[in-house]
Amino acid sequence: MIEREQLEMDVVFVGAGPANLAAALHLKNKLKEHNESVERGRIRGRKIEDLEIAIIEKGKSVGAHILSGAVMDAIALRELMPDFLEQGCPVDSTVDSDAFWYLTESRAIHSPVTPPPLKNHGKYILSLSKMCEWLGEKCEEAGINIFPEFPGAEILYDENERVIGVRTGDKGIDKEGKQKENFEPGVDLLAKITVLGEGSRGSLTKHLTQRLGLNEGKEPQVFSLGVKELWEVPAGNFDEGRVVHTLGFPSDAKTYGGGWIYGMKNNVISIGYVTGLDYVDPLIDPHAEFQKFKMHPEIAKILDGGKMLKYGAKSINAGGWHTMPKLFADGVLIIGDSASFLNGQRIKGIHTAMKSGMLAAETVLSAFEKEDFTSKTLKDFDEKVNGSWIYDELYAVRNFHGAFQKGRWSGLANTGLQFLSGGYAWGFMPMEHHLAGHERMEMLKEFDYKGDSLKQRYPDLKFDGKTSFDKTTSVYHGSVAHDEDQPSHLHILDTEICATRCAEEYGNPCQRFCPAAVYEMEENAKTGRREIKVNFSNCVHCKTCDVADPYQIINWVTPEGGGGPNYKGM
Ligand SMILES: Cc1cc2nc3c(=O)[nH]c(=O)nc-3n(C[C@H](O)[C@H](O)[C@H](O)COP(=O)(O)OP(=O)(O)OC[C@H]3O[C@@H](n4cnc5c(N)ncnc54)[C@H](O)[C@@H]3O)c2cc1C
Repeated sequence: MIEREQLEMDVVFVGAGPANLAAALHLKNKLKEHNESVERGRIRGRKIEDLEIAIIEKGKSVGAHILSGAVMDAIALRELMPDFLEQGCPVDSTVDSDAFWYLTESRAIHSPVTPPPLKNHGKYILSLSKMCEWLGEKCEEAGINIFPEFPGAEILYDENERVIGVRTGDKGIDKEGKQKENFEPGVDLLAKITVLGEGSRGSLTKHLTQRLGLNEGKEPQVFSLGVKELWEVPAGNFDEGRVVHTLGFPSDAKTYGGGWIYGMKNNVISIGYVTGLDYVDPLIDPHAEFQKFKMHPEIAKILDGGKMLKYGAKSINAGGWHTMPKLFADGVLIIGDSASFLNGQRIKGIHTAMKSGMLAAETVLSAFEKEDFTSKTLKDFDEKVNGSWIYDELYAVRNFHGAFQKGRWSGLANTGLQFLSGGYAWGFMPMEHHLAGHERMEMLKEFDYKGDSLKQRYPDLKFDGKTSFDKTTSVYHGSVAHDEDQPSHLHILDTEICATRCAEEYGNPCQRFCPAAVYEMEENAKTGRREIKVNFSNCVHCKTCDVADPYQIINWVTPEGGGGPNYKGM
């Protein structure tokens, strides 16, 4: 039995992303405002004692695991901090030109009008990692405790299934599960309210929603995978403040996908490609799709003479409104991407994540005022969301992703109708319930598999080391590091399935959907059988394996604190 330190906090936020950082800061601001108003007799009620607030983050520092495009709609940040520019928010540039290209294999058809959801004029291009680092500093200035290298490993419940905090991960366990000399047990952080803002496919959120049935009656979540690089390109290749979104090549018409290029300062560009993880062809490889995207003549022209600086990949929860879980339970709230607040049509989730955090903060404050931390008070969060601009924005596009499950053209037609009707036309369309991505993957027998998926699906793909790179090179540019002497954080619940059914039925698609070369099928010298090998130290924490595995037998849990990619500045 390990003895653990217990730390009593008022509120614990799990994850230092935009959702939780905005939430914690807003909570501190609102608390101060509340107490001043009571003091001056402006409102009735009682003063609330200063709250002990902690934010825990699994990355080495705030921002280390943050990956985004990013073009930010500043609507929420402006509400949080109207003078964010004067306060030094690290905005890179302001969008002054927007374009939408449809890519065929050899051409880019420039749309004469940019579809309204992709209009970004006046919005901000920035590194979300840098912005979170800056917001983290603001939180610390406001007296909020931030603990990097502290993964939330387990949710703590009382005997009535009420959430009472989180247990952080142990440090110093070797790969056999034994304690090393530097062993430090995780801490039990007890809290009146725990707020989960773990981003897409949060590991604690997954556990909580399953245990408490918070997804009951909801559509299954669907995910995409965003694969991104930062490049320095020759002056004149792509202007600062320019934004291009693409559709078409290299995705086939059945597969959801699209690309982006954003012009940052000093001739740096953010370039990336999103592949829907609800694809049907098991031979699809999202990393290869991105390499092909960069090889398109119009895209390659932009990269010509440039240099790749950094690489990263992260899943995106694309299901939207219908896939939002119940947002509260006794002692706990779920916010940001963990709760599906992203607008899939605009590929934007920073503003909705932050606003969801701010509404959660207001709910937390009233819970402290009433001294009631149960669902009775926390359900107000739902009402606050439904009464905010989040509802207006997300409800109007509620069927966006579902419509794409019938293919690109159906998706586009439905999107057009939805736009013209302000979201009402969805009611007249025979929309089927959509499926979780892993349920849509078809078996190999439909694809006449010849044994080499890259050659078969991407015959002209070459990793030339200039524009296109293999996964190992990419991972190197993600600055990924995990102590290798620790148990793998990628739990395969039944490796026998990998060697038998999955090999036969899907050709082990984990080798393809993982953008970091974590999974390999290797011949066992003794048995001659091909078995799964997990190179967990390559893991970029994108969670794709947990999402896309057709048998749902990969369980992503947090590794030792500080391990993972380093996306600083991305
Ligand atoms: C490739 C890509 C491009 C995108 N482009 C845009 C864009 O241009 N504009 C836009 O508005 N949005 C964009 N988004 C979406 C946007 O990044 C997200 O909506 C937003 O970051 C969500 O914020 P969050 O705080 O909910 O989660 P995240 O930003 O994912 O932050 C979660 C944090 O929690 C930490 N964490 C997770 N689990 C634990 C745990 N158990 N213990 C401790 N810490 C934990 C993570 O390490 C991370 O730091 C993009 C996303 C991707 C992946």
